[in-house]
Amino acid sequence: MYVDVILPLPLPGSFTYAVPPEFADKVGIGCRVVVQFGNRKIYTALVRKIHSDADSSLAFKDILSVLDNEALVKEWQFRFWDWMASYYMCTTGEVMNAALPSAFKLASETRVAINPDYRIDSVTLNEKEFSLVETLYNSKKSIEISRISRIIGQQKIIPVVKTLIEKGIVLLEEEVREKYRPKKEYFIKLDDAYSNNEAALKELFDHLEKRAKKQLEILMHYIQISRHGFDELHEVKKVELLKKSACSAAVLDSLIKKGVFKGYEKTAVRETKLNPESSPGSISLSDQQNRAIKEIRDSWTEKDVVLLHGVTSSGKTEIYIKLINDILEQGRQVLFLLPEIALTTQIINRLRKYFGDKVGVYHSRFNDAERAEVWKRASVSSKRPGGSASYDIILGARSAVFLPFADLGLVIVDEEHDSSFKQVDPAPRYNGRDAALFLAHLHGVKALLGSATPAIETYYNSKQGKYTLVELPERFGEMELPLIQIVNIREELRRGRMKTHFSATLLDQLAGVLQNREQAILFQNRRGFSLRLECEACHWMPMCKNCDVTLVYHKKSNQLRCHYCGYESPVPSVCPVCQSTGVKMKGFGTEKVEEELGIFLPEAKIARMDLDTTRSRHAYQTIITGFEEQKIDILVGTQMVTKGLDFDHVSTVCILNADNMLNFPDFRSEERSFQLMAQVSGRSGRKKKRGTVIIQTYNPAHPIIQSVMKNDYTGMFKHQLTERRKFKYPPFYRLILLRIKHRNPQLVDQAASDLAKKLSRIFGNRILGPEYPPVSRIMNQYLKHIIIKVEIESSVILAKSKLLEIIGAFYQKPEFHPVRVLIDVDPQ
Ligand code: ADP
Ligand code: ZN
Ligand code: ZN
Repeated sequence: MYVDVILPLPLPGSFTYAVPPEFADKVGIGCRVVVQFGNRKIYTALVRKIHSDADSSLAFKDILSVLDNEALVKEWQFRFWDWMASYYMCTTGEVMNAALPSAFKLASETRVAINPDYRIDSVTLNEKEFSLVETLYNSKKSIEISRISRIIGQQKIIPVVKTLIEKGIVLLEEEVREKYRPKKEYFIKLDDAYSNNEAALKELFDHLEKRAKKQLEILMHYIQISRHGFDELHEVKKVELLKKSACSAAVLDSLIKKGVFKGYEKTAVRETKLNPESSPGSISLSDQQNRAIKEIRDSWTEKDVVLLHGVTSSGKTEIYIKLINDILEQGRQVLFLLPEIALTTQIINRLRKYFGDKVGVYHSRFNDAERAEVWKRASVSSKRPGGSASYDIILGARSAVFLPFADLGLVIVDEEHDSSFKQVDPAPRYNGRDAALFLAHLHGVKALLGSATPAIETYYNSKQGKYTLVELPERFGEMELPLIQIVNIREELRRGRMKTHFSATLLDQLAGVLQNREQAILFQNRRGFSLRLECEACHWMPMCKNCDVTLVYHKKSNQLRCHYCGYESPVPSVCPVCQSTGVKMKGFGTEKVEEELGIFLPEAKIARMDLDTTRSRHAYQTIITGFEEQKIDILVGTQMVTKGLDFDHVSTVCILNADNMLNFPDFRSEERSFQLMAQVSGRSGRKKKRGTVIIQTYNPAHPIIQSVMKNDYTGMFKHQLTERRKFKYPPFYRLILLRIKHRNPQLVDQAASDLAKKLSRIFGNRILGPEYPPVSRIMNQYLKHIIIKVEIESSVILAKSKLLEIIGAFYQKPEFHPVRVLIDVDPQ
């Protein structure tokens, strides 16, 4: 008996292992097994196929153990992985790596032992090596590296172990252990003898009152906690009860011994009771929303994908909730995909309000154990026994497409235009939206894409009839779209009406906001205090030593930092090139905006939201909550403030400089600028009061600024489409980007031009480059890009197989072996 397994490595194909008799009835397809691969490496692999037709003349290694009793990965998931590997041109092993939470990929704690065959000559050992060897000798068996380091009080021991292994003195013994254990908690519940019998309970009270005041205290607290929001007495967590009552565990134990309480351990499942008034049935939709829902349901009888194009605040979420409810009533599951940063408690709470504990959340800020838990709960159907713990709605970022859905019934992708659906590194470089559409197709279920500013490709697909287009052109509840005011920076400068980066119009508007006790959002798409430093005399600028970018000044730390690799350096007081002291700040970022605004509006409470202020897991939420509770008047932020947030008192939104986004060198920069400006504008204006948006720009006549002002998505779309057709970009051409990478710039040059030459022979003028990307060195790796443009109507499968052939031929040259060629299909 043999198994073909997938290894979590960037190697093509699957690998065959033999199954020893003791595992024969344990292995199953989709189960994990432990195998040895290479000399000493031990991996967790996934069984893809069980068979008996291996070439018996070859010696196959045995599998070492079986980790699952039942399939962790379902049959259809393998087909999904295959599609992803072939579409995005990577290996199934790489997809496996992205798909499985690392808790399922086993931590191997490395253990080492003395090589008994080695005769040690102490002269060859230095002091550190000697003490390590001594420890191993004394222990007589293998020990974990972490333990040795504790024993000998050495932190950096790995390099020592490494040299000893290389010298053959120490052997490695890897021990694979499973990391994931479901979280168990201890619960306390009043015994039925009391909870169902008031008289007995009263008697117990009287008894404890006289004899055991401490025990009475616990009982009272138990009743208080467990009644909260419920009709009957409920179980409570032991830790919670002890904390609230401030009693010792011993007091509680004596009550358990008396039979008053039952104590037991179980897997923790949060229980929230639903408010019966907030059922999806209780939402009454507007006429517009009802029409949209009808159109969506009708179109699903013919087509699989609907694009819901609804302006900001048109009530798309309410529509999603109704449609989700349809699917839940059929006992099936819904995947609800969002761009990472928009996974705020705002949307989670909105869905939980209606669907309670049926909503599971899955994204990268969750730890491994939590992700593993969601995995398990998505894989059971609520219709099956034990299904009460199932998640019927999964709200997640792109990686949620990999969950083992028990019975998927619908896929929704909100803010479908967002470029953060795309994974850049490592492979698979997939787009979560497109993967979700394939997932829906694989399950034979319908999909809904929603956005106020659809991606050009998506809108084009709907215009071509591939998707159905459903429009919601009005905001909910007679709310008006905001009034957009364009401020010409050049003109304002000329008239002396600019105070640093703020026009008088903007500052007046903000003063009004403060007076009316409203709130404002200020958008600036760069973080940091100032873009960069520059010597006024010789124009020298401090650069990162690892990357080809200028360093950014961060005021809080008073350091210069690289936004690509994190390299930090102190601020120079004189120019190192010409010794001039005139090293000055240029440009401006969010941190500087926050500070300067404080000077002009001293009474305003200002906060900042960008990558720097939201590094910790809860920081993002803290800022949002503070803003919701009006502890903050003005929120200064980057892209983060544009996404899917709803605030009740925001009357004004300001875009400080529209030009730096428009001028970014990328064929999507105009589309992106429109999306950003329209989305951030959408945060302005609430019920009954029309909002205001102020856009500062040097270029008020720019067609994109004009489209934003007129809220003219279709105008923008038509213009972009003409450009895309003319310059051969999506949606008329598919792009495949090759990133050629190595430490040696000459080698990168050579390799890139060799590869481009080979490609041109087949693809002709469909090849763009090789070119240096805007940042041509990152973390000491030099980069060159080649783009292949394939006509949308021609066979992309054929193009991809040609491409792989050419890359294969390229690697025939030994000097190119160390060069990396990364393939990015549909780059963003
Ligand atoms: P979108 O997702 O399109 O930006 P939302 O779904 O967030 O819009 O709706 C905007 C606001 O209008 C929200 O505060 C929402 O609660 C409210 N709203 C939308 N539809 C309804 C409805 N049918 N009944 C009550 N409130 C609604
Ligand atoms: Zn200088
Ligand atoms: Zn750097």
